Order: sequence, then structure tokens, then C-alpha cells
Amino acid sequence: MQTCKNCNRQFSWSKIYKSFWKGYEPIECENCHTEHRILVRGRVVFVSLTILPMLVFGFFLSPFDHAFATIGVGFAILLFGSFFTPYLVKYKKIDQ
Ligand SMILES: [Zn+2]
Repeated sequence: MQTCKNCNRQFSWSKIYKSFWKGYEPIECENCHTEHRILVRGRVVFVSLTILPMLVFGFFLSPFDHAFATIGVGFAILLFGSFFTPYLVKYKKIDQ
């Protein structure tokens, strides 16, 4: 899990997770208040674990004829993938 580049305190899973859904909002360290921004490759990791598997399932792998079933499972895949992303993405300190 990502730690603060300034004081090494670990960011919480929920803090990182919420930042994704707010359009990769910068994360502020609770300890020293240093701001961190997601790296571009962190966004790539997020997309390849969430949106990409959902689209691959939706367009190529879905066994359902029903659009709603496909969307439902696709969305579950997106959520499932997103649970792992806080462990994998990297942040860097914002220089002020
Ligand atoms: Zn800190």
C-alpha cells in the first residue's frame, strides 16, 4: 500500500479508493498534510483492472443474451477489480 513520501505513514485503503471515484483527487496525508497525486501509470492500472475487464466481458465473453444481465455482471467485475487497485497504484508528492 502507498505510504506518504514525506513521513512514511501508510494511507488507508478507503482514502485511496475514494480518490479514484472523485476523478483521482489528490490524497492528503493525515499526519503531515503533504498532498500526493496519482501517477499516470496508476490511472492505467486502475483502468486495466476495472473498465477494461468490464468491456472485455461485455463485448466478448458474456454468455447472456440479456443486456441487463451483461451490464450487471460487468459492473460487478468493475467493482471487484477496483477493490484491488488501492494496493497497486502509486502516488507521488506534489511539490509546492
Ligand atoms: Zn505524511
